[in-house]
Amino acid sequence: MSDIINVTRSSIPDFEEYCDEIRSIWESRWLTNMGEKHQQLESELKKYLGSEEVALLTNGHLALETAIEAFELKGEIITTPFTFASTTHAIVRCGCTPVFCDIDPVTYTMDASKIEALITEKTVAIMPVHVYGNFCNVYEIERIAKKHNLKLIYDAAHAFGAKKDGLSSACFGDAAMFSFHATKVFNTIEGGALCFKGSELKTRVNDLKNFGIHGPEEVMYVGGNAKMNEFCAAMGLCNLRHLDQWIEERKAVVEHYRQRLGGVEGIVLCPEQPGVDSNYAYFPVLFDGYKYDRNQVFDRLGENNIIARKYFYPITNSFDCYKGRPGFDPDMTPVAKFVGERILCLPLYAGLSLEDVDRICDVILG
Ligand SMILES: *Cc1c(COP(=O)(O)O)cnc(C)c1O
Repeated sequence: MSDIINVTRSSIPDFEEYCDEIRSIWESRWLTNMGEKHQQLESELKKYLGSEEVALLTNGHLALETAIEAFELKGEIITTPFTFASTTHAIVRCGCTPVFCDIDPVTYTMDASKIEALITEKTVAIMPVHVYGNFCNVYEIERIAKKHNLKLIYDAAHAFGAKKDGLSSACFGDAAMFSFHATKVFNTIEGGALCFKGSELKTRVNDLKNFGIHGPEEVMYVGGNAKMNEFCAAMGLCNLRHLDQWIEERKAVVEHYRQRLGGVEGIVLCPEQPGVDSNYAYFPVLFDGYKYDRNQVFDRLGENNIIARKYFYPITNSFDCYKGRPGFDPDMTPVAKFVGERILCLPLYAGLSLEDVDRICDVILG
């Protein structure tokens, strides 16, 4: 049996590079609470992303919750069910109500033409997702948010390093959230960030991620604990040095997949978006009228020691934990339901060999 090919593999620096990076933590004995590495990574990320403010957090999920808290949102948030559990859970856990907008059948991101019909007097925000690194219809969504005075928070967990019209995904909306989870294009082991404008908001986010403590004798908010520690920040500093190279390696994999699978009847690939520099985060394939359906392809790959991922399936408005809640109904978002039942993410990571890509495509096409 041939070696296992996982759906992803974490990108990491050389062991020695990480050891060098963490040496000063041993010397200072400052392990967390916004130390030197944390400050350094925030400043490097500001440059890399072209964002006015960057706040590092324990993970992407808490970054989303912190954004909702920082904007003091209470009410309905228009979002997409075609996302990871985190997006919908963050809204619900913060006491808001997700209102599900269907997705665009080409980019799988929120269908901007369907947003306005969902706005009520209770709507406070829009939370779209740049699915697979595909950009949302950012200009149109921005126009709608402005017109109706709604906060716009992007779940940009998939879009770190991607650019549209020369601007990074951090630059759109009132805030953009990134995940630096081990499986993402850029990782800090676990970690996340919020990008936004304004030093006042930066202070509030910093307080919120540290129990709401503003000063030694001043607790301003009912905050949680969501600080990134120094070891994770050090991993980020190392990984950022290699990121462009890793994105190039991902690109080579994606181009090979496109050559092998493009134009095959019943296999639908995401088109490249005009004006977008991709980060090649995922390689989703939609099986619609192909000789095998999605589940058959998934099983055939599994039999060949290749692990693909039904991502996103199930869609969040059909989760067991939400059964019976009004508004949680996959039939209300038929495009998201259709895509969720047919989509498969193929293995993709920096360093995946083209021979392995061929092995994967041979099984799919065989
Ligand atoms: C990974 C991910 C998250 C959550 O980020 P964590 O860092 O794992 O907490 C949220 N939304 C999307 C779309 C993601 O892919």
